[in-house]
Amino acid sequence: MSTRIRTRFAPSPTGFIHLGNIRSALYPWAFARANGGDFILRIEDTDQERSTQAAVDVILEAMAWLGLTPDEGPYYQMQRMARYKQVIGEMLQAGLAYHCYMTPAELEALRERQMAAKLKPRYDGTWRPEPGKTLPPIPEGVQPVIRFRNPTHGSVVWDDKVKGRVEIRNDELDDLVIARQAPLGDIGTPTYNFCVVVDDIDMRITHVIRGDDHVNNTPRQINIIRALGHEPPVYAHLPTVLNEQGEKMSKRHGAKPVTWYRDAGFLPDAMINYLARLGWSHGDDEIFTREQFLQWFDLDHLGRSAAQFDEAKLRWVNAQHLKMTPDERLAPLVAEQLARRGLQADARLPAICGLFKERCDTTVALADWAQPYYAAPTPRAEDLSHYVTDAVRPALRELAARLGDVPWHAADINAAVKATLAAHGLKMPQLAMPVRVLVMGTPQTPSLDAVLALHRREDVLARLAAV
Ligand code: GLU
Repeated sequence: MSTRIRTRFAPSPTGFIHLGNIRSALYPWAFARANGGDFILRIEDTDQERSTQAAVDVILEAMAWLGLTPDEGPYYQMQRMARYKQVIGEMLQAGLAYHCYMTPAELEALRERQMAAKLKPRYDGTWRPEPGKTLPPIPEGVQPVIRFRNPTHGSVVWDDKVKGRVEIRNDELDDLVIARQAPLGDIGTPTYNFCVVVDDIDMRITHVIRGDDHVNNTPRQINIIRALGHEPPVYAHLPTVLNEQGEKMSKRHGAKPVTWYRDAGFLPDAMINYLARLGWSHGDDEIFTREQFLQWFDLDHLGRSAAQFDEAKLRWVNAQHLKMTPDERLAPLVAEQLARRGLQADARLPAICGLFKERCDTTVALADWAQPYYAAPTPRAEDLSHYVTDAVRPALRELAARLGDVPWHAADINAAVKATLAAHGLKMPQLAMPVRVLVMGTPQTPSLDAVLALHRREDVLARLAAV
């Protein structure tokens, strides 16, 4: 029986999650879904100074919005401290870890000596027990840290799904601190790399898909996993996402929180589509649905080089999805945008979406078009003076009279417009433009009869009467 696939997203809630971060959730989610496995959410909140509940909330909101639903979690590392300490206790017992009394000042002095000798700074193993070795006397008043006994020979090798074969010699790694200083007998705060290892083992993670800023942690994590008697998971280290200026995407460099895109009128499926392509490909396919993505996703087509965010491309992808999305599904999203403006949509909204979605790239733009159906527009003074001229006023009055009397359908509205044009010897634009300015607030719209038919008759008459 093959092992059930289990992936995880393990964000640190130390800033508002941006698109570069959420892509590290998308791939493990998709890989679990594509293989009938489980996707686990783990909040890595051990940096208590920088972690905030507000950042956790944005992570949960962003994932809910995009439909990246975890099968398990959120687990919080701060709630698992007792478990990490238990494992450290067992490692001390088993001789896999040891107390180290080197003070921070001594470590610094060691580092300086090594740097001066052009050596790579590393812990020198002073307190590492070896058969036949006598350890220094334990100094007064120094609280020890606990270090992992890293293997000294051989190498760590893994077949990274993005980077290919990676090999790191063990003599390049020193003995990692796994618990911070505490009085002998206590176990101090477990360190980040150690918590990740215990979690990945306990949560039975089979595939670790994460940003390549963690690639240096991997050999250390693999050594600890093996020391604890487990086989490491498969690793895929994703290249960085760059912002439009070519810098690593980060809050400091102006990256927006994922939820900003929801508020700006982007569709979850378009975001999934766009983010999926930032580092993965399926031939030349640019536009695909969530379902297609889940059918196609694999770890063999992850890109090896950094991907660059491009907002214009994202808008284009969103526009394609707006066109593909049935009007009934767009309407509630546009209704939400209208509600933010204090406007209450109604049963006309799906048809309104159908009429205007071709010309929009976000649901905010679509709400701009829908707005005059729910609140009178304020036409620009230049448009009024340019289009609503004395020459056309009599025709506008006649059209209003005719529209008061026809069945309220596009064909009948069209007949009323044509009859008015004929009676006044006008061409279509001479009448259509002022009507659009008065009713929609702009001279450019889709065909006049279709635009008017979706309005309430009384609104059209009131706006025409305001001439
Ligand atoms: N908490 C880490 C981060 O937010 C991820 C660690 C991991 O995926 O192993 O970058």
